[in-house]
Amino acid sequence: MLINKLPLLEQTQSPKPSHKTKLNFENTSYLQGEKFYKQPLVQKQKRQLSIMKSQNEIKKQIQSITDDSVSKRIQQPKTQLEFQTIDKLQLEFETKYIEQNRVIDDLKLENIKLKMQLEEQEQQIIYLKIINSDLRQQIEISSTDIQIKKIEQEYKDTYRRMDETLRKAIDENYESQIKMKNLQIKSQQLEQFTFMFKQQLTCKFCRKELNNTITVIPCAHNYCQRCVSGYVGRCFACNDDNKVQATYHNEYMSDLINMYKIFENILSLLRN
Ligand SMILES: [Zn+2]
Ligand SMILES: [Zn+2]
Repeated sequence: MLINKLPLLEQTQSPKPSHKTKLNFENTSYLQGEKFYKQPLVQKQKRQLSIMKSQNEIKKQIQSITDDSVSKRIQQPKTQLEFQTIDKLQLEFETKYIEQNRVIDDLKLENIKLKMQLEEQEQQIIYLKIINSDLRQQIEISSTDIQIKKIEQEYKDTYRRMDETLRKAIDENYESQIKMKNLQIKSQQLEQFTFMFKQQLTCKFCRKELNNTITVIPCAHNYCQRCVSGYVGRCFACNDDNKVQATYHNEYMSDLINMYKIFENILSLLRN
């Protein structure tokens, strides 16, 4: 670095005359000036030489300094101070080595602790996974519980509706049973009436359907014309000798019998 700066110093200083010489040149004559001018040229050369010399010296000095330091380190025998510094460094190194070893041991311990922690955490993760699956199962069970409750509610609702329908049906059935009973009574009454009606249309002697009806006065019992023994002198049904006043041929009875036949047909249709 120093060497590079030196030529620059030469360029800036050497070509320019000093301020003092310039003043002298103006005050003297031309010849005097020429003589005076030659003198600074020599001076300049001399100065350049001296600069060169000093430059070389500096170069040498620098070289010697650098060489000296390197050679001192490599070749020259170690001095007492150097030994001391080496010992010091060695001691420093040893303490640092011990310290580092301690740090390494600490790190190893910490590493073991961390590994143990990691294992613990892994176990915790496994445990949590088991709990998670358990919870999921419980949730599924609870969802099926909800479904079962829904189904139960639906069943209860359906049962209630069916029960209502059944009660209505029972009520209706009861009503219809009453109606049926009434109908049965009416039908029985009708049967009795029919029986009585038919009795009125049967001969009191032969117990068959009247044929050419003869009616007795005053009891109004009816006989067939061919069953004369039933009403001659006395009425067979009344069994009283003095009762019969007269008999007549009852044409109206044949109409009644025809009416009864129609009625019986209707009745048989109703029975079925
Ligand atoms: Zn008869
Ligand atoms: Zn009679």
